[in-house]
Amino acid sequence: MKKTIFTKLFFAFLFIISLLSTLILLYTFNTIRSHYIQNLTNNLQNIGTALLLKVSPLFGESRFDELDGLVKQLGSRIETRITVIDREGIVVADSEEDPAMMENHKFRPEVLQVLQGEVGTSLRFSTTVREEMLYVALPVERQGETGAVLRVSLFLRDINRLLGSLTRNILYCALIIALVSLLGAFVFSRDLSKPIHELNVASHRLAAGDFTARVFLRNRDGELKDLGDSFNAMVEKIRELFTELSLKKDQLNSIISSIQEGLLVFDKNGTIVLSNESFKKIIQESAIEGKYYWEVVRVPQFGELIKKVTEEGKSYVAEELQLQDKFFICSVTFLGFREETVVILYDITEMKHVEKIKKDFVVNVSHELRTPLTAIKGFVETLEESVDEENRHYVDIIRRNTDRLVNIVKDLLVLSELEERGTTLELEAVDLGEMVERIARLFDSRMKEKHIRQLVEIEEAIPPVRVDTFKLEQALINLIDNAVKYTEQGTIAILVKAKDNRVMIEIRDTGIGIPEEHIPRIFERFYVVDKSRSKRLGGTGLGLSIVKHIVLLHNGTMQVTSTPSQGTVFSIMLPINPS
Ligand code: ADP
Repeated sequence: MKKTIFTKLFFAFLFIISLLSTLILLYTFNTIRSHYIQNLTNNLQNIGTALLLKVSPLFGESRFDELDGLVKQLGSRIETRITVIDREGIVVADSEEDPAMMENHKFRPEVLQVLQGEVGTSLRFSTTVREEMLYVALPVERQGETGAVLRVSLFLRDINRLLGSLTRNILYCALIIALVSLLGAFVFSRDLSKPIHELNVASHRLAAGDFTARVFLRNRDGELKDLGDSFNAMVEKIRELFTELSLKKDQLNSIISSIQEGLLVFDKNGTIVLSNESFKKIIQESAIEGKYYWEVVRVPQFGELIKKVTEEGKSYVAEELQLQDKFFICSVTFLGFREETVVILYDITEMKHVEKIKKDFVVNVSHELRTPLTAIKGFVETLEESVDEENRHYVDIIRRNTDRLVNIVKDLLVLSELEERGTTLELEAVDLGEMVERIARLFDSRMKEKHIRQLVEIEEAIPPVRVDTFKLEQALINLIDNAVKYTEQGTIAILVKAKDNRVMIEIRDTGIGIPEEHIPRIFERFYVVDKSRSKRLGGTGLGLSIVKHIVLLHNGTMQVTSTPSQGTVFSIMLPINPS
């Protein structure tokens, strides 16, 4: 049974009242009893003292028969048992029995007390009359000493009868007090538990989402009224907060569902907790909440992306992803404090399409330009042979610009090929030291012409590296060519070092350097720091883009450090095995 406050209080009161009533009853009964017995003892002592006046002379003269007759007569008159016992314990007179038939009384406690010089009292069971009795014994003097003991006694049955009726009255009283107290306890308990019950009911309603729940504690003041008022105020506050929260949630939901990007949120177990309409449209599935994200997006690359965030401890990752026939930028953010992961899919299909059209256009134009340019170049070379001194200058200009155009078209075609999706590398294990030395030799004459010192330093024990020879040669040629182009004096150093599973190729020059603000952009297509200088030197602005693409295809990285007028360092880091 569920224990309510009322039952708890009531039964506690019941227990306390019952216990107290019993204790009071016992204590009162005992006090009255002992007080009553004390009174009777005093009376018996007085009776005994009066009797001594008659008993002492008869005993002194050893007139025992007369003594026995006297005690029998007085005993029945005052309804008290009177016994006379001599020093040896022999009963010489008794009001109830024949003394000759009675046993020796020497060791009765009251007799012993008198023989020791005290007034004897005892409350015990009489073996003679087989009843509980109260005894008082006094000394009977003979020739100045205790010659016998006068014992007066009363049957306790009268006391018990008297006390019985007294007990009954006390019991009735106690019962009435207990009943009244219980009634009081009942009313008090009910009074205390009722508002608590009301609060309980209201709390249940509140827990079930009923914000109209209130408590009305009528005729109450003090703490209970304060409690009721506080509860009502609390419910009102919760209602306000809840309304505000619901409003905010609605706002958030409408914002989330209105954004064009696909949004997906899942918890630490991978269970989807939130997604918007755009996401459902992308994966062409509805009702995905509660499913695992891998059941919904079954693309391995997506799983790897999530792993990077959830298992490798990165807080944010963004990568391009293809889902069905569409392309997305998929950004994954881990919310550490909620242990949730947020995925946003940004559709870039259209952008990709436009980009492709642009690339195709560039490729087509480059292809279309290649044939006429080759023809022009051929005719210019023919013209150069037969031109007079007056026109040579113009033919030179045509040749230089034709060369530049040929270079641009060539670089554009290389770049388009590198950017083509699915470009593969023809990997083979290559001795990079040997490759670098071979390429450096190609620049010997140009460097000598410009009086630039060449330094090639190859660390010992460089392991063979798996690279696409043709493409990496192309990248290194571009970098060394730039170093030669943009250095007027000093040294060009090419270093090859091995460093934890990687090989680093460094090209250091003492040339014009690159101002810091240009460094982040030099890998962009057609980006040149100084247009006229680049044009003069036959640059296309595409060389570093090509280098960067080749390095990335090898899973490598690039670094540039430069100080204007002091020189530039390009470093390429390549993994020993790019796959
Ligand atoms: P370009 O064909 O003009 O050399 P690149 O793409 O190879 O085009 O280089 C882009 C720009 O970066 C160059 O125009 C030049 O300004 C700068 N650059 C590249 N390499 C060096 C270098 N070693 N020293 C100084 N500037 C350089």
